[in-house]
Amino acid sequence: MKIPKSHPRYESLMQRHLLLEGLRKGYVAEAGLIAHGRGEAFDYLLGERTIKEAMSAERIAVAMLLLSEKPVISVNGNTAALIPEVIVNLAGLINAKIEINLFYRTSKREKLIKKILLENGAEEVLGTEKDSRMIPGIDSERSRVDTRGIWPADTVLVPLEDGDRTEALIKMGKNVIAIDLNPLSRTSEYATITIVDNIVRAIPNMIKFSSEMKDWKRDRLEGMIKNFDNKKNLREIISRMRKGL
Ligand code: ATP
Repeated sequence: MKIPKSHPRYESLMQRHLLLEGLRKGYVAEAGLIAHGRGEAFDYLLGERTIKEAMSAERIAVAMLLLSEKPVISVNGNTAALIPEVIVNLAGLINAKIEINLFYRTSKREKLIKKILLENGAEEVLGTEKDSRMIPGIDSERSRVDTRGIWPADTVLVPLEDGDRTEALIKMGKNVIAIDLNPLSRTSEYATITIVDNIVRAIPNMIKFSSEMKDWKRDRLEGMIKNFDNKKNLREIISRMRKGL
């Protein structure tokens, strides 16, 4: 179905269309559609725009990524369906590795997502090789991470993650930057930096900030991080949502 650009819900319908296409091709999981639906509901409460608290979290996240020695961007089916090219662009700007991490892991889905990322310009995509280790505290295949990627990473950017894995990564001593439209989720609560924004807006904003901040001195970036209070930022977002209602 072709969605006319003039449609008042064009952006939202396009996102659904991309996810449905991913489902048909086999790289988006059925549960990915449900997760997106939960995200849409929260996006509605934000007015489907980047609020100022999200914008500052995006800036701080970029500062942290630029200061990191081994940053990794974790990619799942929904992310690959919605913004494959911008993920690859951001990884290039902040010098991050890209690793596929799936809640519903199958080698068919991994291969399809890898192909999409490579087609969109990625030079290397981790997470599909046998060279992996299990994150302590998580059962099943979900704990598997690449020994060249998330395992040694100091900072992991997780657009769309579940609370258990976020908590486990934090326990491993990593900085976790989460992008999650739900400010009440366990992921949002556990993350070092929580970006409450739609990934389709958050990642392009982060690309803009990366280009602007990439030559900034370390002290300046460190100062920004020191002055940021994630819990306070989350409280302000929840209060904004309440007032909006
Ligand atoms: P948790 O385990 O963290 O408490 P959950 O069980 O709600 O959270 P999942 O179902 O694993 O989380 O993940 C879906 C999350 O991703 C939801 O919180 C939803 O708000 C968020 N989400 C879905 N689509 C997007 C999107 N496009 N951009 C940002 N966040 C999104």
